[in-house]
Amino acid sequence: MIPVSTFKDKKVALFGLGGSGLATAQALVAGGADIVGWDDNPDSVAKAAAAGLSTADLRGVDWSGFAAFVLSPGVPLTHPKPHWTVDLAHQAGVEIIGDVELFVRERRAHAPACPFIAITGTNGKSTTTALIAHILRESGRDTQLGGNIGTAVLTLDPPKAGRFFVVECSSYQIDLAPTLDATAGILLNLTPDHLDRHGTMQNYANIKERLVAGSGTAIVGVDDSFSALIADRVERAGTKVVRISRRHVLADGFYAEGSRLMRAHGGTSSLFTDLGGIQTLRGGHNAQNAAAAIAACLAVGVEEKDIVDGLRSFPGLKHRMQPVGKKGDVVFVNDSKATNADAAAPALSSYDRIYWIAGGLPKEGGITSLTPFFPKIVKAYLIGEAAPAFAATLGEAVPYEISGTLENAVAHAAADAARDEGGPSAVMLSPACASFDQYKNFEVRGDAFVGHVAALEGVTMLI
Ligand code: ADP
Repeated sequence: MIPVSTFKDKKVALFGLGGSGLATAQALVAGGADIVGWDDNPDSVAKAAAAGLSTADLRGVDWSGFAAFVLSPGVPLTHPKPHWTVDLAHQAGVEIIGDVELFVRERRAHAPACPFIAITGTNGKSTTTALIAHILRESGRDTQLGGNIGTAVLTLDPPKAGRFFVVECSSYQIDLAPTLDATAGILLNLTPDHLDRHGTMQNYANIKERLVAGSGTAIVGVDDSFSALIADRVERAGTKVVRISRRHVLADGFYAEGSRLMRAHGGTSSLFTDLGGIQTLRGGHNAQNAAAAIAACLAVGVEEKDIVDGLRSFPGLKHRMQPVGKKGDVVFVNDSKATNADAAAPALSSYDRIYWIAGGLPKEGGITSLTPFFPKIVKAYLIGEAAPAFAATLGEAVPYEISGTLENAVAHAAADAARDEGGPSAVMLSPACASFDQYKNFEVRGDAFVGHVAALEGVTMLI
């Protein structure tokens, strides 16, 4: 745990006592802060109280003495409308921050030179974060990996000289981290997502921009127009920018030519490494992730050979285009993490005959943007709330059934694929939807998929 010493002997209000909120409260208490926590969910309040934390309904307390208000990133700061605690904090003039901000203040106070890599973007954050941490660890460095990837940042070991921090940041976390100052900051890409929480695409982009604008080295994927403009703006403001691209030749930076990752300087390019044959880094999207990881590792002083070795031994991440089972020439692929259409596109582009399981809680835009992949889909198996809308988009172009549940979808898709004589095929869960209508989260959905695959007769599991 990182005891938060920067609020020692100060009063701090805290809202959101779920997993990371509880960890934040404990870190503040360990550092000597006097906290009062609350949650709209009585179970969370009871759990916090049982853990010995002080709780009180924040509607009934005097806000004038609080040095800060710590908000859980899952709670609306601005959209669709500010949470009631946010209004109270504004009225009392109390600053609103989150756990990443507490971390950066601790780092500045105790070990400002310890390397800190922060990663954001609409898609690819976790893969890039895990890849960087893997390269650092394999090169023998003391490495802490956390943030939005699942380990609350304040549960990591404290900053100290020689310790490396690799922290995935969601837009919500950046919004609550006004002094975010990574050694190297990565913005991978920007496509519309979470607009319910950020209002407009421009607001969303502005928040993401802050992560790279505050970094020593700003590493920016310039394949979308929002990110390209951000790279130019941050550079004009005097920050060192390293551009990366999976689509274009760059005069300076890192770009992909197929699986070949090129390094460019002053208009001259040379091969940095070839990702061909690395199963866990298949596809153009992973070339973008790898390029960002390379640039970040170079920025914190990792040797080129160690970077190349780390790329080669990367074990990959669960639920991201993960081959989980095989039966004959049918492979079963768990891509549960694809919670929007853009995230599903890489998986659809990586296989040629697809039995596609999709659906869940729909996101804005549905699957219209996936139309170019429709010819590769032999049949679609639609689940969850999105099924009728997805069926309407597929229309006459792709045969489909409304399977309803994941269990039905796996059984039907496996049976259809087993009869397929058209060559190797993939039964793939790449839902292009959130999971919350049927599952607690995408991990539970992915594990359920793996369970249903494992229950099929004659399947050899690959995990
Ligand atoms: P995040 O943490 O940003 O949600 P992940 O690394 O968990 O991203 O990947 C989620 C999904 O997004 C993957 O299954 C893959 O299909 C897709 N993806 C990964 N990297 C990229 C990228 N650089 N660009 C677009 N899509 C990506």
